[in-house]
Amino acid sequence: MYNLLIVEDEEQLRQMLCEQFTGEGFNTIPARDGDEAIELWSEYKPDLVVLDIMLPVRSGIEVLKKIRSEDNTPVIMLTARVDEIDKLLGLELGADDYVTKPFSPRELIARVKAVLRRSSNNSSERQIVLQNLRIDLSRYEAFIGDVLLPLTGTEFKILVMLAENSGQVFSRLQLLERIYGDIYAGYERTIDTHINNLRRKLEPLAAAFEIKTVYGVGYKLIEAGNNNG
Ligand code: CA
Repeated sequence: MYNLLIVEDEEQLRQMLCEQFTGEGFNTIPARDGDEAIELWSEYKPDLVVLDIMLPVRSGIEVLKKIRSEDNTPVIMLTARVDEIDKLLGLELGADDYVTKPFSPRELIARVKAVLRRSSNNSSERQIVLQNLRIDLSRYEAFIGDVLLPLTGTEFKILVMLAENSGQVFSRLQLLERIYGDIYAGYERTIDTHINNLRRKLEPLAAAFEIKTVYGVGYKLIEAGNNNG
């Protein structure tokens, strides 16, 4: 179970976020101001910190600097102002992502999961091997045999998801949600374009699998020699 430190001085928002994340299976640790955030962060060493910028006692920026001076705990900043985003990006303070207020809890949950996925992939240098397909998750590279596939970021993510769950059918909406969070839910058909591009790049190579359209549902990856469905 992931430990999540949630730093937010608005009580209602803090409580709501704790409830939502608890419901998603996280262990949540609430903090009300910058000092408490640093205290609890040193005590619990959480897997990820959700950090509001405008906080009493010490600002979120100061908390982030303190955390970064010691380690690489993933941090997602909450910000209400556009000029704060400039500051975050401009100073390269090392936040992993940011979400602007107001936001939906689902959006934040999706971002948290994406950042956690990324950081666990980085640390364990995971690979997916499926017949002659090899995906190096830490380097963001996919190979058929020795040939490096020239994939875009989105194509890469789609391929990873299908290959990790070979044989399982995914709807366009599921693919979109897993790739972007639910903010792109209106554009299901863009998945078709990505899938077609992916197929086109795979075509000249002797891939031992196929991305199959499941009519009225979505897509799945099937390995060669497995034609049942
Ligand atoms: Ca605040």
